[in-house]
Amino acid sequence: MATLTKTFLVGAGPGDLGLVTLRARTLIERADVILYDYLCNPDMLRWAKADVEKIYVGKSAGNHALPQEEINALLVKLAGTGKVVVRLKGGDPYVFGRGGEEAQALAAAGYSFEVVPGITSSIAAPAYAGIPVTHRDCASSFTVITGHEDPTKENSALDWRALALDRGTKIFLMGVERLPQITQRLIAEGASPSTPVALVRWGTTGRQESIDGTLATIAGIVLARGFKAPAVTIIGEVVSLRETLNWFEHRPLFGQRIVVTRTRPHASALSEQLRELGAEVLEIPTIRILPRALPAEATAQLENLSAHQDWIVFTSPNAVDHFFTAFFAAQPDLRALGAVKIAAVGPATAAKLTALHLQIAKQPKEFTTEALADAFTEAETRGQRFLLPRSNLANPILTQQLLAHGGHVTEWTVYDTVPETSDENGARARFLDEGADWITFTSSSTVENWHALQLHPVAGARVPRHASIGPVTSATLRQLGYTVDLEAKSYTITGLIESLLTRF
Ligand code: SAH
Repeated sequence: MATLTKTFLVGAGPGDLGLVTLRARTLIERADVILYDYLCNPDMLRWAKADVEKIYVGKSAGNHALPQEEINALLVKLAGTGKVVVRLKGGDPYVFGRGGEEAQALAAAGYSFEVVPGITSSIAAPAYAGIPVTHRDCASSFTVITGHEDPTKENSALDWRALALDRGTKIFLMGVERLPQITQRLIAEGASPSTPVALVRWGTTGRQESIDGTLATIAGIVLARGFKAPAVTIIGEVVSLRETLNWFEHRPLFGQRIVVTRTRPHASALSEQLRELGAEVLEIPTIRILPRALPAEATAQLENLSAHQDWIVFTSPNAVDHFFTAFFAAQPDLRALGAVKIAAVGPATAAKLTALHLQIAKQPKEFTTEALADAFTEAETRGQRFLLPRSNLANPILTQQLLAHGGHVTEWTVYDTVPETSDENGARARFLDEGADWITFTSSSTVENWHALQLHPVAGARVPRHASIGPVTSATLRQLGYTVDLEAKSYTITGLIESLLTRF
């Protein structure tokens, strides 16, 4: 019987998560083990199963990558375990990724494997810097060349004369540090010193940077700017088109590094919108949400809730999620809610409730717990029974005010908020090394939790400003000694983004 192939060499694309193939995503979701390196966007590891084994084989600060022979040996060993093994490689696995050698090692050991091509940085980085690699008017071919070959070496594997005279686009991968020799050699072999040249660093990601010059000037510009790897170098007339075609770098938040402090499941909406606008997003969740089981007397009430309560007041989308998880665990039928009325603090909470086809009887104009408390008049409150599903850290104001107005309050802690300690995507480390332009805060608890982490970037890193979703979050920022550099006009994620955009 033919056995199923379980080892995959997979192109991870150039960095932008949207440039990963469907096949790659499917295999990441299926993988038991993932080997990845420094050019793979670590955010894609989130697609993997919770218990996936992740093995980093690339270089990290100060450390060299695992030698290629060891990666080959590791792959062969893993292939023998019968697990689904995904070897993720930046860009395309067979374009200067030494993927060919890994495939040969597997073949030599008798293991079957499959290859998933990826979008290579050699064409994607130019495209995101406004450079089409071919163009009818000025380039009928493009050549992708290793920048690791020493151009001053006697027996080069490259034909420098042919490269210099070729009128197509030349794209060098790797070897930014060899640029002076490469450009000199091309000029010496007959290329025009005025040929346009561009370099694109971390192409297709929010941290993309690009520069341009000519064969004669570019090495000096790279040196002066301290421009570093990973970058592709594009040489040819097509580079001049970027004056008109540079779409990616003209997005409104391009160049802004923005920290998102929400929990992982909730970060995506904010992060995606910021990325879409061109920002580089560092997701540094400060807290993790853990569901909490309800005590027996609470579960008993769920059998016929409206016999015990007149209102349920939801102060966050999490409260809706965790209340209904507990509810449906105890009660298969939504009608057990009975005629109980429902209040919601803001649109995200309300959206969760309307998705369940529940009508909202009260929602304040301003999306704060205080405003929600004020929305209940004394007459509406007196003698009424309020159920507040909440977190272990909920704002006490609502309960205090309802009690003061003669209401009865039952609080159920349906989830706990605990500090997030892991740095799964390396964003925390990046923040410490490079700083950021903005940190976004979407609740008082994100401020408190961020403060508790005490993350201070190194001297010389970018100094972040603080963007707050609304007045309560701003007050918490000020209390803890932070400046509020921006406050959303409307207290929602969209409002926060709109206010940020007015700055650019
Ligand atoms: N297999 C990869 C290339 C691996 S060689 C691919 O197809 O893209 C590593 C080199 O690729 C780096 O030194 C750099 O020159 C280039 N590179 C990879 N990702 C890049 C990116 N996002 N931006 C710029 N250059 C990149």
